[in-house]
Amino acid sequence: MPVKAILALGSNLGNSEDTLIKAIGDICSHEKIAVTKISPIAITAPVGGPAGQPDYANMVVEIETSLRPFMLLEYTQQIEQKHHRTRDVRWGPRTLDIDIIDIASLEMDDPDLTLPHPRAAERAFVLEPWARMDPAALLLGSSVRQLADDAADAGGIREFHPAPVVCA
Ligand code: AMP
Repeated sequence: MPVKAILALGSNLGNSEDTLIKAIGDICSHEKIAVTKISPIAITAPVGGPAGQPDYANMVVEIETSLRPFMLLEYTQQIEQKHHRTRDVRWGPRTLDIDIIDIASLEMDDPDLTLPHPRAAERAFVLEPWARMDPAALLLGSSVRQLADDAADAGGIREFHPAPVVCA
């Protein structure tokens, strides 16, 4: 049985919006994944990490998948690799980062896959696009809309670009 999952994508190196759109194309090209909702693209100031990084482009997608959680992680990591993610500096600039935010409200503590994503509930750059994509969304029973309003970095979102049309 397919389950609903939420993925967050971010990029701040190269043509970030183009990278995000291509990554969504990669996600929906998997035969066991259907992309069901796509958020607008949030342009955000970097949170943490080295000073002077470029702004990020961030977005969230809802999928339905019959992949088991670690198979989904493996696939999202393959997509990161394909887009030449650099991992030299922790929290430094990256061409593509894909986080698994939630899989069917599953809770797990494995360091390789912690669910829900441990920092999602406080990151406006995840919560705000998610709430715009799905105003009724819940994260472990809490309103994503409310969490987005309460997030400390809510002011760091500079602007939104419309959700791209991809995976039609
Ligand atoms: P990062 O450098 O922030 O992309 O972290 C990547 C590492 O976090 C990988 O080793 C993943 O196995 C691990 N990880 C743990 N939980 C998650 C999650 N919910 N989504 C994506 N990666 C995760």
